[in-house]
Amino acid sequence: MWSGLRAVSFDLDDTLWAVGPVLLRAESALTGWLAERYPRLVALHEPEAARERRVAVTREFPDRAHDLTFVRTESLRQMAAEAGYGPGVAEEAFAVFHAARNAVEPYHDVPEALSRLASRFPLFALSNGNADVRRTPLAAHFQLGISPAEAGVAKPDPGIFEHLFRRTGLQPAEVLHVGDDPVTDVAGGRGAGCRTVWVNRRGVAWPAAHARADAEVSDLNQLVALLAHGGP
Ligand SMILES: [Mg+2]
Repeated sequence: MWSGLRAVSFDLDDTLWAVGPVLLRAESALTGWLAERYPRLVALHEPEAARERRVAVTREFPDRAHDLTFVRTESLRQMAAEAGYGPGVAEEAFAVFHAARNAVEPYHDVPEALSRLASRFPLFALSNGNADVRRTPLAAHFQLGISPAEAGVAKPDPGIFEHLFRRTGLQPAEVLHVGDDPVTDVAGGRGAGCRTVWVNRRGVAWPAAHARADAEVSDLNQLVALLAHGGP
């Protein structure tokens, strides 16, 4: 039993939706838009070059590596400048990417399960990616989304969880953190003092190097059932 549970925080990518397809669609929307508006940028840089540039920017600005919005915008700014375009291109281009990045398709179990959970607990988003939960189709279920850009660190650093505690007044033990990643979500959540649930949608083995989550589910319907029983 979990006594004193007062809120649930969720990872987003690969917990509430598959991130691979949405990233492909967002990259494709960005490339199409750039080709139409800023053709010299696309002509100058091979498709693979954008990813290599983001890696280079991460090395150039290690203290901002956790902020994927900065990394992508700075990469676009550099590539635009090399193609003879002004810095405004990067912001505009990021907005195109971001709109497609937030047009996620949740897993089939997610909307109904979140709706049920949101009637019992405030729900928060804690993602290392740059989706903005308030701009996704799931926005209505969430009270707040915390990003690494806002917190200054990414999961599994306890600092991002502590940022949530500060903003909400919740104690660590009052928060259940739910996510698909054994390190960033389960080890990170535990390290911050939260209870944890591992969402194992693909039925893979638990990586032995880390302590297990308090509970494991294969989808959010199981999470709803778990919480209806008050915990494992
Ligand atoms: Mg994830």
